Amino acid sequence: MDSVKAQISSEVDALAQDMYDISDFLKANPETAYQEYEACDHLSGVLAEKGFGVQKGVGQVETSFLARPVSGQAGRPTVAILAEYDALPKIGHGCGHNLIAAASLGAAIALNKTLTIDSGGLVVVGTPAEEGGGGKVRLAQAGVFDDMDLALMFHPGGLNIAGKDMLGRTKFKMEFFGRTSHASGSPDKGINALDAMVAAYCNINAIRQHLRPDGRIHGIITHGGDAPNIIPDYAAGLFYVRAGSRSYRDEIFERVTNCAKGAALALGAACKIEIDPPKLDPMKRNAVLETAITANMEALGITPDPDDGRRGSSDIGNLSHYLPSLHPVLAIVEPEIPGHSVEFRDATTSERGRKTLLNAAKMLAMTAYDYLTSAEMRKQVAEEFNRTK
Ligand SMILES: [Zn+2]
Ligand SMILES: [Zn+2]
Repeated sequence: MDSVKAQISSEVDALAQDMYDISDFLKANPETAYQEYEACDHLSGVLAEKGFGVQKGVGQVETSFLARPVSGQAGRPTVAILAEYDALPKIGHGCGHNLIAAASLGAAIALNKTLTIDSGGLVVVGTPAEEGGGGKVRLAQAGVFDDMDLALMFHPGGLNIAGKDMLGRTKFKMEFFGRTSHASGSPDKGINALDAMVAAYCNINAIRQHLRPDGRIHGIITHGGDAPNIIPDYAAGLFYVRAGSRSYRDEIFERVTNCAKGAALALGAACKIEIDPPKLDPMKRNAVLETAITANMEALGITPDPDDGRRGSSDIGNLSHYLPSLHPVLAIVEPEIPGHSVEFRDATTSERGRKTLLNAAKMLAMTAYDYLTSAEMRKQVAEEFNRTK
């Protein structure tokens, strides 16, 4: 390890208690998408105390923030270190975003203490509402990332992976409208919206077999009627479609729309499908960045695992089409433990979770350092990014 990276590593170690405190505070005070007011205040307070100028509510998103070193690194190239801090309904930080925020702050503070280069900027971007809200998409559309060159964050998981595919996703509501009538006395007068929903659900199950391996459709029925003796005049459900490309995501959405229309036609009901924006894009990967982060993982004694092929979606997918972005995963649990679980949440403050937190901060700071100090790496990252534009 070169001497600057060794210094980054010891700066992170010196910040260990601050980082544990951030993670513990967020875990004890979970807030869901776009409600992260306490988290935003807390993280802004820590950054201000550590020499950053903080601007809250950027990009017309109240619970976002931008933090730049008051004295020190500014100008281009600028590396953005992203902090997520939203929790899940009911299970709190079951996705481990408390560790993401703590690692990103630790990385930025340590790097700011270490960097002494002439040009190049560092910024921490607080990105709310990863879970279902697409906060990064709103910030990117508002131009928040326009003067930044690279976006970095880590996500806790069950494996150590420098980069992996993520699926594009469209979220939508499906509704059917029929006509009420007495279910026994005059069923012939009714139009059954629930039957239309069930038929649509069965149609979706039938097409699922014929999707490519990256295609996903999943949903729930949220309203199926009001009483068994009334023919339901209204049924509703929430669905996601996902795929490895924008075009296939949109094609599957079209096919699901046809499943609903066919069901509505069969039952004589009306149907309505409404997309809940933003649509998420698949991750645009960057092999140069993944090679750099792999080297830093290995320098920290972390052995990268083979990709297990499990795929989710994130709003960093959209961001990765605006600027080169990296979303490595470091393990805090064994692979059998899924994310979005109580076990995963509790692992964020385990001994292993704490050790991973420090490694994550080091890995991010070292990779940002590589990028800021190597014109050759920046050229290669840009070439790779533009190659697949
Ligand atoms: Zn999640
Ligand atoms: Zn997450």
